[in-house]
Amino acid sequence: MALAPYYDKAAIAAAQVIAGFDPSTFQRSLEGTSVGLSFADQAATSREGGALLDLTVRLLARLYPTLALRPSGPAASKLAEELSALARAINPQLDLADEADVGVAVGIDATPWTQTIYAGSDAWQGRVSVTGPCPVGDTPIPFGAGAAACLAASAIFRLLLDPTGPTPSDGQLSCLDGAAPILEADLADEEWCLPSRTVLVGAGAIGQAATWALARSPLTGTVHIADHEPIDVGNLQRYVLSTTADIGKPKATFAAEHINAAAAEDTNRLSAIPHDTDWVGARADAGTEWEAALAAVDSAAARRAVQASLPRWAANAWTQPGDLGTSDHNFLRGACIACLYLPAGRSRNEDELVAEALGVPDLVHEIRTLLYQGTPPPPDLLATIAARLGVDLETVKQFDPRSIRDLYVRGICGGAVLPLRSGAVHAEVHVPLAHQSALAGILIAARLARRAAGIVLPGTEVTRLDVRSHPPARPTQPAAKDPRGLCLCQDKDYVSAFSQQWSSAD
Ligand SMILES: [Zn+2]
Repeated sequence: MALAPYYDKAAIAAAQVIAGFDPSTFQRSLEGTSVGLSFADQAATSREGGALLDLTVRLLARLYPTLALRPSGPAASKLAEELSALARAINPQLDLADEADVGVAVGIDATPWTQTIYAGSDAWQGRVSVTGPCPVGDTPIPFGAGAAACLAASAIFRLLLDPTGPTPSDGQLSCLDGAAPILEADLADEEWCLPSRTVLVGAGAIGQAATWALARSPLTGTVHIADHEPIDVGNLQRYVLSTTADIGKPKATFAAEHINAAAAEDTNRLSAIPHDTDWVGARADAGTEWEAALAAVDSAAARRAVQASLPRWAANAWTQPGDLGTSDHNFLRGACIACLYLPAGRSRNEDELVAEALGVPDLVHEIRTLLYQGTPPPPDLLATIAARLGVDLETVKQFDPRSIRDLYVRGICGGAVLPLRSGAVHAEVHVPLAHQSALAGILIAARLARRAAGIVLPGTEVTRLDVRSHPPARPTQPAAKDPRGLCLCQDKDYVSAFSQQWSSAD
């Protein structure tokens, strides 16, 4: 039994949610833990059951070094073989055991564990329970199943690793409802066709989960996918589609291939076109007018850039310390994406952000000079940074940053030297747990599917969840424009450009 090669990243993510995090206790708990997954033929042969089991394995195998799969029936046994192979592709050192004290039971007739999280779904609804089995449906809608997998992974995490979080309880989440309930009868009867020009901007942790859901959805049409980076080993900590064989592949091409492979297997009729470049490059390649844009990017600046390109409709998804969520935007009659990211106070400069993240806010002048010159940090500064961050000087030296920005980007944001410790973490260095990113991705994909099914909201709505807790009864609220009138959606040039471009806009 061994922890995954990207374990350090998982420990950083855990440190950011567990109060009073202790690295050695966390590692010991993980190494001594086996997590179960049980299911019977009914779940194994239903479309939603298959999706729920697939995503649950994709989430659990990234963190826990030992899994116990317990199928009942011939179809379930056959699926268990495929899921075992998937788990080993995600963590080649993963151990497959027979026993586990704590586990997930999917659908009815699944064998319970000593301590069981039951999971099930009904089309757009995901459910978890601690008291009794949850059935799984057989619709082609994957969103409830995907949400249930994330809720179950969250409950297992709290049971085994985070005693400081709320105890798991029964909960459900609708991926369809807005601030007001939406009935399945409200959805279009005909084919759910994507808007003619649809783009997913960002194929990272959130983008991959959105891709997982889109590839399994009953949608037709074409989605463009833009991302300029390749998959690296640290990404495997939370990128649900990636296995160790995928390290180095361009993120956009990888995601597009996943969707196109599903279409080749006749799972859906969606096709995907990759752009292995950033949003500016994708617009240069594929045009500047977009009917629908999904912002699955990792910075406020990148989100504003998606909104500033004036898509007719946009949705956004995020993870940050304390919550995750998605928002569905009406540019003229509600908050735009940029409204949600207007600085509350004076925005901080890069030198302040970098100095704080490196633990040397008092040396901001020196940091500013180094950022400006692009020169490597001198040895005495490296020693100070190591001491302030509480890491071994060798860790920082071995890493041998080419510049102070490199140290910040790769060492802190990329997790190469960030210490394992508890305490406040700035959003810029946030590393989400796999189930946090995955749920954000499933929710944004559901927003696109809902739009394709003909649901047009009168304004903007924001859905917020704290995945450490059970879902609230009303996670979605309307969101008005920023009251200060500073946003691009309140700028007359942007508004007139938008109105001209989309003269019949909703
Ligand atoms: Zn705005």
